[in-house]
Amino acid sequence: AQAHLAAMERHRALNAFITETPEQALRMAEAADARLARGEAGLLEGIPLAIKDLFCTKGILTTAASHILDGFIPPYESTVTRKLWEAGAVCLGKTNLDEFAMGSSNMTSYYGGVRNPWTRKSDNSDLVPGGSSGGSAAAVAARLCSGATGTDTGGSIRQPAAFCGIVGIKPTYGRCSRWGTVAFASSLDQAGPMARTVEDCALLLQAMSGYDPLDSTSADMEVPDWAGTLTGDVRGLRIGIPKEYAIPGMPAEIERVWREGADWLERQGAEIVEVSLPHTKYALPTYYIIAPAEASSNLARYDGMRYGLRVEGKNLVETYMKTRAAGFGAEVQRRIMIGTYVLSAGYYDAYYLKAQKVRRRIVEDFDAAFERCDALLTPTAPSAAFRAGEKMDDPVAMYLNDVFTVTVNLAGLPGLSVPVGLDASGLPLGLQVIGRAWDEATVFRVGKAIE
Ligand code: GLN
Repeated sequence: AQAHLAAMERHRALNAFITETPEQALRMAEAADARLARGEAGLLEGIPLAIKDLFCTKGILTTAASHILDGFIPPYESTVTRKLWEAGAVCLGKTNLDEFAMGSSNMTSYYGGVRNPWTRKSDNSDLVPGGSSGGSAAAVAARLCSGATGTDTGGSIRQPAAFCGIVGIKPTYGRCSRWGTVAFASSLDQAGPMARTVEDCALLLQAMSGYDPLDSTSADMEVPDWAGTLTGDVRGLRIGIPKEYAIPGMPAEIERVWREGADWLERQGAEIVEVSLPHTKYALPTYYIIAPAEASSNLARYDGMRYGLRVEGKNLVETYMKTRAAGFGAEVQRRIMIGTYVLSAGYYDAYYLKAQKVRRRIVEDFDAAFERCDALLTPTAPSAAFRAGEKMDDPVAMYLNDVFTVTVNLAGLPGLSVPVGLDASGLPLGLQVIGRAWDEATVFRVGKAIE
């Protein structure tokens, strides 16, 4: 814990943390030492972790990287973090993210952007770590922690994992409790781990998972011993390559690592099959209707009355308006406007209802594909890390970066990003392994074979 706290201090320029918690860390590490001495080690005894600042942590500032949660100190602990502490993990601090987890670059944070620890060989310009779990990804990549939590609504664990050269998994929807995690889009949000290896992610997910009566969408499913049974043996597995993911304009190097990943799996004894997910082209527009719709409803609670920022007006309505205008950043306001528009009378059928129908088609695409294969292999993102500030004035270009990740959230499936090599400029690239619902075991197995 001390070594990690020192590393965090040396690398403050990355801006990976919003809040550092050195006192808690040392106290928890001492308690872990005492348990280890008594031979009572938990699954993660003494392992120093960073927590995305979207998880409520009792007595520790929780911001969602938004001005509107100014000074909010939760009186309770999220289920996921409670489980991690019960397994013996040590809290180093709360990591930076896009405001309310809305973004793919970490640039929308009220607390400023995070720097990717990687730079191009050719120049030193600042690159984004991806988002929204950019602080967690940068902290793991820069060795400021042994692992971190992320959340993934449309790619926020997998895309930053790919941009920072680490491993991250979004588990099956319902695997981790959402209780105490600041809500973005409730039918898509899932927590998951980010770490250096597939095995570390398997261990962390084991500790984070499990049924929780406090979240009505949490599933009562057994949590397997993923780490203990992880082999990387892919003999006999059928790996699907969805042809629609070969999108026009994708960099040749990403196509190359994708092909190499498939070749490697084939040489290890897997069978490669081409599959089709015909509704893939509708996934981004569907996601960018459903996610803002749910967000606009979830964000209605920030009214300046109950917690966080309050900007006084002449009357109640003016106080609401002033608080929300000052408290939410531009991207969050854009999402609220899109969301309220697609849900409004007269537009509901044309947008929201239509999007729900297309979502069903996307689920059916995956069901059909998984009759022919056991897991899918795709790129995680259509690019490597980009320059800080790039795409910031073009929200649609930013949204397009999520093209390979949002389908998995719409269908509720597990998706893992594994680093598979560097591009010509020396930046990491990731491949994504998608599995059947509840089959994280196969996803980890394939991931282990290609990492
Ligand atoms: N980049 C996507 C968005 O901006 C996904 C974010 C996320 O997964 N939290 O909505």
